[in-house]
Amino acid sequence: MDKMYISPEYEVIRDRDRCTVCRICERQCANGVHAYNAETGRMTADNSRCVDCHRCVCYCPTHALKIVRSQDTYPENANWDSRTINEVYKQADSGGVLLSSMGNPKPQPIFWDRLLVNASQVTNPSIDPLREPMETRLWLGKRSTKIERDAGGKIRDLLAPQLPLEVPILFSAMSYGSISYNAHACLARAAEALGTYYNTGEGGLHKDFYKYSKNTIVQVASGRFGVFQGYLEGAAAIEIKMGQGAKPGIGGHLPGMKITEDVSETRMIPRGTDAISPAPHHDIYSIEDLRQLVCSLKEATDYKKPVIVKVAAVHNAAAIASGIARSGADIIAIDGYRGGTGAAPTRIRDNVGIPIELALAQVDQRLRDEGIREEVSLIVGGSIRSSADVVKAIALGADACYIGTAALLALGCHLCRSCHTGLCNWGIATQRPELVERLDPEVGYKRLVNLVTAWKHEIQEMMGGMGINSIEALRGNRLMLRGVGMTDRELELLGVRYAGENM
Ligand code: SF4
Ligand code: SF4
Repeated sequence: MDKMYISPEYEVIRDRDRCTVCRICERQCANGVHAYNAETGRMTADNSRCVDCHRCVCYCPTHALKIVRSQDTYPENANWDSRTINEVYKQADSGGVLLSSMGNPKPQPIFWDRLLVNASQVTNPSIDPLREPMETRLWLGKRSTKIERDAGGKIRDLLAPQLPLEVPILFSAMSYGSISYNAHACLARAAEALGTYYNTGEGGLHKDFYKYSKNTIVQVASGRFGVFQGYLEGAAAIEIKMGQGAKPGIGGHLPGMKITEDVSETRMIPRGTDAISPAPHHDIYSIEDLRQLVCSLKEATDYKKPVIVKVAAVHNAAAIASGIARSGADIIAIDGYRGGTGAAPTRIRDNVGIPIELALAQVDQRLRDEGIREEVSLIVGGSIRSSADVVKAIALGADACYIGTAALLALGCHLCRSCHTGLCNWGIATQRPELVERLDPEVGYKRLVNLVTAWKHEIQEMMGGMGINSIEALRGNRLMLRGVGMTDRELELLGVRYAGENM
């Protein structure tokens, strides 16, 4: 046998009594799982093609479908589970690197869930967010730490360019190419409605979206796709992408099949050829080199736009952040190892990097210790799943959070983790016109607005419960957090006390 038979991961269960053979599932599935058998007059399923995206389950009018994990098992073995064995078979078949999408699904500790938020009782009154002002507005960028007056005694404006946000949540970088035109349309429109920002990722800025410039962050990544003067000017801020949480230390890869005419024009690269951005920026090998790029981008935009430097959360994140703060950047974005991606080698996604919670606590502390915390703002991302994660991140030291996977879930993503195939049945991670049109920008943008609005209310409620009435007062306020189920070392790294310890 040249190729090993690999049992499908999922099984399609069809209730024959309910199935009316309407063939909707067949039309909805881009993976070709469902088919009509004219001889039997019945529907059949090819389980080996199923990625568990749930499109058919959601659209079956009679609720006849269920997708379950396959019961077909190898001999029980705690060391060699079925997925690991299948991966070895796949590599022995192909000789290739395994590819995955979205974030690391491994059951490593999620420190957000081991952190608990404080609430006021009796002596320190809580604040009712329905009756009293609760400020979620903030500004990202360098803060002025001194006041200077000119010869006439007037206060000189020393303020560096700032990014105003109505809510401490931004949509994280997702390139046009990795996600669809309609997905970008939803993100851009929602960012404008919410008073926040979406991020082009490394795929350039589509000509139709320049109208959202005030709410756009453009990325300059190692491939420099789509970067030109107009692109830099067509944004509120510029982000230099040095690394990404899902794949620290390696570059990006967009398969040629996703490079349509429109994507190629936006990225300024040939159609149909793989877009591979190199692992390092070929002009950056030190903080001094990074500083040159920061300064060049500022010079090119007349010093009017804040520059963000995005890095993956890695072992020496704190020292790296200290260097970035001294490079002239206005904002540092740190992306944790559970962050999503359109495509990454599975081994890298699941084994490289560190949790964002630990990286954030260390970076914030280091910048404070060095007296340069006000030189930069901090945005963190990498699996921010709820408003509670946002509140905990800000209390740990972040100014704001990037959300990516949560935003895609709001658009209909079912986390099937097969974005790299380009066959997203929900019209998100695909460039196929018949799939892209499944995502209605009118509906999608409203769902994003709903999600962030709901989180904003929850953030206000949690802040009110703590007796805090502004994001600014919550930032780095670690006394508002307590840990449970953590070791002393973990608590020490997070700079948080154990639950039950007094102020
Ligand atoms: S969508 Fe549902 S009812 Fe229609 S063919 Fe598929 S399983 Fe049967
Ligand atoms: S974006 Fe689409 S392909 Fe990617 S995980 Fe979500 S549903 Fe699956």
